[in-house]
Amino acid sequence: MTSWTFPTSSRASWVTASREADRRAELVTRVGALRARLVNACCVAGRDPGELTVVAVTKTFPASDIVTLATLGVLDIGENRDQEARAKIAELATIWPDGRPELRWHFVGRLQSNKARRVAGYAHAVHSVDRVELADALATAVSRLGRPPLNVFVQVSLDADPTRAGVVPSELRTVADAVGAREELRFVGLMAVAPIRADPDRAFAQLAEYSVRIRETYPQASAISAGMSADLEQAVVHGATHVRVGSALLGHRGPAVG
Ligand SMILES: *Cc1c(COP(=O)(O)O)cnc(C)c1O
Repeated sequence: MTSWTFPTSSRASWVTASREADRRAELVTRVGALRARLVNACCVAGRDPGELTVVAVTKTFPASDIVTLATLGVLDIGENRDQEARAKIAELATIWPDGRPELRWHFVGRLQSNKARRVAGYAHAVHSVDRVELADALATAVSRLGRPPLNVFVQVSLDADPTRAGVVPSELRTVADAVGAREELRFVGLMAVAPIRADPDRAFAQLAEYSVRIRETYPQASAISAGMSADLEQAVVHGATHVRVGSALLGHRGPAVG
């Protein structure tokens, strides 16, 4: 009987290479499917797909997926935990020692003020500013780091539950003013997550109304960060400029971490 096998070591690397190729093929398919969904959603809403920024929320997925996404032109990367973001940034620096693509890091999770300085060290934008104290901490961090102004979205709570992330609508103006007052911050717009078990269509319509009101005072704050894998069509109808997409791009992530 002829035995026809690879030597163990090269078989192991062949398996790894084939797994990497499978994952790459999966991400190619998912990126294509997402782009088709967005084009379709824009078509329905009468909008230009060029107005949309896709933020790939890569939490729980490895840095190698970010490399693949970057080769597919997805350069806006979202993370919700500082520690995880910094670990991936450090890993990517070893993969791309020079000439790495310019990724834009979007911080989308709950942020404690004592981590403001760390996040300001790498973030292009923070989508989750929901307190005056956090706005002040980020502004101070930007000025200490001597970095360009940080893009800030004020996160609004659409279910007005004070235990969840986001500022309650009655306090939105106060937080917006705190962001608008600081030259270290660029107030770019509003962010929200549709409440669980609520109609995302109604939630995003409400967010669009807040956006109109805020723009009366801050016309530059025209961005709307809304829409995730399950509800991005509704968000696009209501004017989202930034969709934050995790599972539709990267696959099932299991139970929430952190
Ligand atoms: C995880 C996460 C997303 C992406 O969620 P999916 O449903 O996987 O698309 C978007 N926004 C925030 C704030 C998140 O934490």
